[in-house]
Amino acid sequence: MTGPVFDIAIIGGGVNGCSIARDAAGRGASVVLFEQGDLASATSSASTKLIHGGLRYLEHYKFRLVREALAEREVMWRAAPHIVWPLRFVLPHHAGLRPAWLLRLGLFLYDHLGGRRLLPATRSLDLGRDVAGGALKPHFTRAFEYSDCWVEDSRLVVLNARDAADHGATILPRTKVVAARRQAGHWLVTSQDRDGAEATVRVRTLVNAAGPWVADVLNGIVSSTRPAAVRLVQGSHIVVPRLFEHDRCYIFQNADGRIIFAIPYEGDLTLIGTTDKDYEGDPAEVAASADEIAYLCTAASDYFRVPITPDQVVWTYSGVRPLYDDGASKAQEATRDYVLTLDVPEGQAPMLSVFGGKITTSRRLAEAAVEKLSAAVPALRAPPWTADARLPGGDFPVGGFEALVEKIIAPRPWLPRKLARRLARAYGTRAETLLEGAAAMADLGQVFGADLTEREVSWLMAQEWALSPQDVLFRRSKLGLRFSDEQGRALADYMAARAARTPAMSLQAEPR
Ligand SMILES: Cc1cc2nc3c(=O)[nH]c(=O)nc-3n(C[C@H](O)[C@H](O)[C@H](O)COP(=O)(O)OP(=O)(O)OC[C@H]3O[C@@H](n4cnc5c(N)ncnc54)[C@H](O)[C@@H]3O)c2cc1C
Repeated sequence: MTGPVFDIAIIGGGVNGCSIARDAAGRGASVVLFEQGDLASATSSASTKLIHGGLRYLEHYKFRLVREALAEREVMWRAAPHIVWPLRFVLPHHAGLRPAWLLRLGLFLYDHLGGRRLLPATRSLDLGRDVAGGALKPHFTRAFEYSDCWVEDSRLVVLNARDAADHGATILPRTKVVAARRQAGHWLVTSQDRDGAEATVRVRTLVNAAGPWVADVLNGIVSSTRPAAVRLVQGSHIVVPRLFEHDRCYIFQNADGRIIFAIPYEGDLTLIGTTDKDYEGDPAEVAASADEIAYLCTAASDYFRVPITPDQVVWTYSGVRPLYDDGASKAQEATRDYVLTLDVPEGQAPMLSVFGGKITTSRRLAEAAVEKLSAAVPALRAPPWTADARLPGGDFPVGGFEALVEKIIAPRPWLPRKLARRLARAYGTRAETLLEGAAAMADLGQVFGADLTEREVSWLMAQEWALSPQDVLFRRSKLGLRFSDEQGRALADYMAARAARTPAMSLQAEPR
């Protein structure tokens, strides 16, 4: 066949696929990425949204993972200070569970393993005096407080894809890879777009970053005979009206050895999660079960003064962790570390498969993946570059968010402060480009609901591959929590009309 030859084809537009696309494109490789749904439509929008070392993994002696993850906190914060920010976690001492000396030892390691420079260290709290004690049952008298970071997970994915595209990658959401076979030192990858049109492209290397579908790709799409060592573990979250007034989070230990988080969410809500249970079935169908909702309510109610009941739940979401199967007996003990397997039969094109991993370590995973493919793709031998690079909109100092909001508002006194803050959080310095030329609110066009304007929706469709209301309301923002059905329908009509004027993205673009 004739036509473009790409260096790398990536199956999967989650955090791992998009991070690999960004890293490889930035080193000068030609990259095409296929995502069967929206970017971040699977696991990468269903996380607890923490950039964290994982205090709990210390108990399983996962020092390599914890050290790497801890160090990534400040790297990610610097790369994208609009969507990543520090959080403080309150860990109450529970008389029947882990002793205080063990918690102190774990947190000492946590503070010192990972090259912490900016994040504040651990401290002890007297819950009788500290405001964090006010929401808790009175028998919790002591706690430790430590640092980790928050990340807007699905925006991190989209920004990686945006940066990859800015470096020349071809990003194809709503395009499913349906077949891939080796031929004459290449892969022939066949995909189907949202209109059902098929296209085949020739590539030098293939990356299977299909998350919970990693085994389906291995067994169904490339017909590999290698066993796929993947363990699917479901995790669900609930969202309830705000349970406490301060801006810190709680991490609670449960009697079953698990931990759950309670995190301030979207201003007036609290996010509680997560569960850990083996999952069978179609990952696209995963949803929080009544048992999981009850479990999370009970676990949180063990700590909070005011009980939490399922009828308070305003939203739930659920995801499937595609963990590497290390033979652990319990789902919560299966390793969260990533494993990359390279399959290169003599004289044939390589395929790299991604198992496990975390949002936190996605940038490091991408570096490791690129390194493994560099024997087959000379461009990838360029030095690593992402540790000091900014993601789109992240080119402002880590402590500079409020200054950015002021910079956006100063020439636009007509712009409501709340909207300016939301745009700065979502788009960072690119919020100014989004607002360019507007001299009044009316110039931003129709307001669909909450403070979502036509200008922003057009930007999301043109710059960030949004196509449906779900993409805008639950992945590129969480405005869906504020939208009525009627407002959602008006947005759907607008987006459908606009999409009809834009052809589906295709493989016509020539790789460099
Ligand atoms: C409940 C829960 C909580 C978590 N909390 C955290 C946390 O707080 N911090 C943290 O660091 N990590 C966390 N994680 C882990 C993290 O979310 C995952 O490790 C990460 O999102 C996995 O990303 P991925 O790219 O491998 O998979 P995915 O995001 O699932 O992406 C794979 C993509 O491949 C696509 N795909 C599959 N087959 C095809 C095909 N044939 N053609 C085209 N596309 C295809 C899918 O549609 C999907 O979008 C959590 C995970 C869960 C489930």
